[in-house]
Amino acid sequence: MRRFAYIALLTFTLVIGLAVSWTAFGQQIDNYAYDFFFRLHQPAPWTPESVILAADEESFSAFGGLLKVRAALAQGLETIAPMHPRAVAIDFIFTEAQDPAGDLALENAFAHTPNLILACDLISNGERWDDPLPRFRRHARAVGHIQADLDSLDAISREIPLEKATAHERRWALSLEAFRQSRNAQILESPDDLRVGTTVIPTARKSGRSVRIRYAPASMGGLPRISLKQLADHPELAERFRNKVVFAGVTAQTAVRDRWMTPLSGSVSMPGIEIHASAFETFAHGLFLRDAPVASVVLLCLLTVVAAGLLFALLEGWAANAGAVLLLLSVHTLPYAAFTHNIVFPFLPAVACAWLSVFAAAAWQAVVVRGRLGRSEAARSQYREAMQFVTHEMKTPLTAIQGSSELMGRYTLPEEKRKQMADMINSESKRLAQMIETFLNAERISAGQMELKREQFSAEEILGRCVERIRPVADHKQIEIRVASLPEGMLNGDRELMEYAFYNLLSNAVKYSGPATVVHVSGTRENGRVRVAVEDQGVGIERKEVKRIFEKFYRTRSAEQSGEKGTGVGLSIVQQIVVQHGGTVTVTSEVGKGSIFTVSLPLAKV
Ligand code: ADP
Repeated sequence: MRRFAYIALLTFTLVIGLAVSWTAFGQQIDNYAYDFFFRLHQPAPWTPESVILAADEESFSAFGGLLKVRAALAQGLETIAPMHPRAVAIDFIFTEAQDPAGDLALENAFAHTPNLILACDLISNGERWDDPLPRFRRHARAVGHIQADLDSLDAISREIPLEKATAHERRWALSLEAFRQSRNAQILESPDDLRVGTTVIPTARKSGRSVRIRYAPASMGGLPRISLKQLADHPELAERFRNKVVFAGVTAQTAVRDRWMTPLSGSVSMPGIEIHASAFETFAHGLFLRDAPVASVVLLCLLTVVAAGLLFALLEGWAANAGAVLLLLSVHTLPYAAFTHNIVFPFLPAVACAWLSVFAAAAWQAVVVRGRLGRSEAARSQYREAMQFVTHEMKTPLTAIQGSSELMGRYTLPEEKRKQMADMINSESKRLAQMIETFLNAERISAGQMELKREQFSAEEILGRCVERIRPVADHKQIEIRVASLPEGMLNGDRELMEYAFYNLLSNAVKYSGPATVVHVSGTRENGRVRVAVEDQGVGIERKEVKRIFEKFYRTRSAEQSGEKGTGVGLSIVQQIVVQHGGTVTVTSEVGKGSIFTVSLPLAKV
């Protein structure tokens, strides 16, 4: 029962841990952890395959603002065209005509640009593609989308959707089109990845074909960038574009509308064109970060909770705590270790499950252990009290024996007085012996050392004898013993122990009853069993105490208050004797009215 409750508690922590991780709060924590890992573990610097042709502040002021940008771009493209760039991706939207001279220059430049890719944008709430003017478009190898899909929680650019579609038409991302042109290959699709030449891009269709971007590490100082103005002033810089993939776009802080934060950007946002170039570099150098499958995340959470549960169930004290610390440490470091292997493992789920389950398991075990300690402490103090009582009880007959024997030895007493004293010495030593035997029996029987004798005896005979033994005690209290019937039939077992058990029930009935009451005794035989009932009109037992009276040393409050001496041991022995004879003892009782103790025992097989 307790084990089920423990497992249920742990399952609850698992569910809560997972549920918390799926909330926006949980995902934001995962984001922070991702960005932290991203900064902590950066890939080795690589040689970029792309160069950014930037329309920066200086270019704008040199060429005359946004209006003149087409002419300036046209001039730049003409300058680099002889260097045979492998592809040229243009992150400007040329959907409308501007100044005729500039448009014409641009159209001519496009005609001279190899592997040109133009940009398109989703408009009208994603219903329509806003495409470049046909006069430009006809020179382009492809048109790629420039959607960024920032994180819905913190607007940081971590991934890019490779595929975007209206109801009618799908477009690949500008960076992917540039990559395809640079590799002169097709894009082959499967549900889990895209294949371009020899490169397999892990990007599932059901994730909207999104890919995590690997931004260039700080040590590379960003991707190479040459402005239109620099190129115009130093045409020899065109050499830097030889065989490269060119990403042309606006970087001027004043003009650019798409600048986003990245995990590496700190407080400076990154222009969209550099984000597209970074995505391209991710493809070109195979720097992919894969998401761990959801099933593996759930499995890790499950294992964590099981480990925490076992730790506290099997170990105790510092060993359990040390194990828990180790578990927490490994759960915290695992996502980072996975990240260094290019696997993105969400940080929070296992961590939340680990903390919750460790706390729950530790608290549970603390309660259980404390309960156990409390119980054994209670048993110990009961035992101490009982021992004090026993030694005190033993002193009474001993003092009587001592005193009487001294008197007998010192004085010559009349014959009658001497006999009286001898009788007293005899009965007191018997009482002492009885008391010692009871306690030894109790100890032996509870330690399972008691060897039961196997003999047949008459139930009627021993019950009758017990009744006769108790009568003088009852008379003393003016209690009447009424025997309705004595059981017929033979029992099999230990006669002395059984007599002890019956006598004990009778003596309790007398002990816990007031004067001028009746104790009813009946013994019947039914269904192959003997049933002995002892009914008194005594103090009774409260319902919640009934179960406990068979515990060793337990005494009810009313018994304590009655002034009757007792040890609380007798009934525990009675129960063990009866049970070892294949029988049962049951009690029904009502406070202030009385109790019925019933023993049922199997008849001996003849
Ligand atoms: P004790 O030595 O205290 O009588 P027992 O083991 O014989 O110990 O009984 C345990 C407790 O059960 C008693 O202390 C008393 O509280 C309760 N009890 C036993 N018999 C009766 C009874 N006939 N009526 C009321 N209470 C009883």
